[in-house]
Amino acid sequence: MGIDIRLLEKESNNKISFMCNGITPSYANTLRRVMINRVPVLAIEDLEIKKNNSVLYDEQVAHRLGLIPLVTDLRSYKMRDECKCKGAGCAMCQLKLTLKAKGPKTVYSSDLKSQDPKVKPAYPNIPIVKLLKGQELALTAIAELGEAREHAKWAPGLVYYKYKPEIDISKKAESCEECAEVCPVGVYDFTNNKLKINQDNYLKCTLCDACVEASNGAIKVSYDRKSFIFYMESWGQLDCKKIAKKGIERFNSILDTFSKEFKAALK
Ligand SMILES: [Zn+2]
Repeated sequence: MGIDIRLLEKESNNKISFMCNGITPSYANTLRRVMINRVPVLAIEDLEIKKNNSVLYDEQVAHRLGLIPLVTDLRSYKMRDECKCKGAGCAMCQLKLTLKAKGPKTVYSSDLKSQDPKVKPAYPNIPIVKLLKGQELALTAIAELGEAREHAKWAPGLVYYKYKPEIDISKKAESCEECAEVCPVGVYDFTNNKLKINQDNYLKCTLCDACVEASNGAIKVSYDRKSFIFYMESWGQLDCKKIAKKGIERFNSILDTFSKEFKAALK
């Protein structure tokens, strides 16, 4: 199977889109699922709240802290159940963060102080709680690696895809100015009284069929079942490149395990 990949847009290392030709829907979906479900990232898992007289219950504070994306260094940390400590928890699989704040102030993610300078909140301005005068929050948090199939706080980002759109303007539709106007993503240009496809925009087509309706079926919108446009957006723990690399690594190891077990079963 010949696969060819072309980068379409790179807004930053954390947000890209690319076209992948020559694959099947199940192949595309497997890639999507391993990337969003099986890539380990750090998130806060345990908390010891020493003081909290803010308006939020301890559980609410814990929930908000769990969802803060932490910049993840995959080389320094192991999943707790794959660690030498056999799940007991040690410096190889866990990381301590502390937070101490006194009102009046808004507590932000940047108030979390991490034991490891390489691991910190991906965004400093995520509000955690607003403290009034006399209110205090003090806690110790333990972060560890996890997978999003366990809890969404361990999701590295968002990956989705669509088929590559194919648009055919028949002669009858060439004078359809309305067709250009109804398209919500600007697939068409209407210049010199002629409807044309805007080559920069047509891949944004969402297959909504507004132009098909406006042209009474004179425009045909279909899709290429072997070409997929992928969108990847990282939540900040790992960049898109690392998400793809780690996802594929994890999938390879799942296949290796299957292969080993299968061989053993048929012995
Ligand atoms: Zn350990």
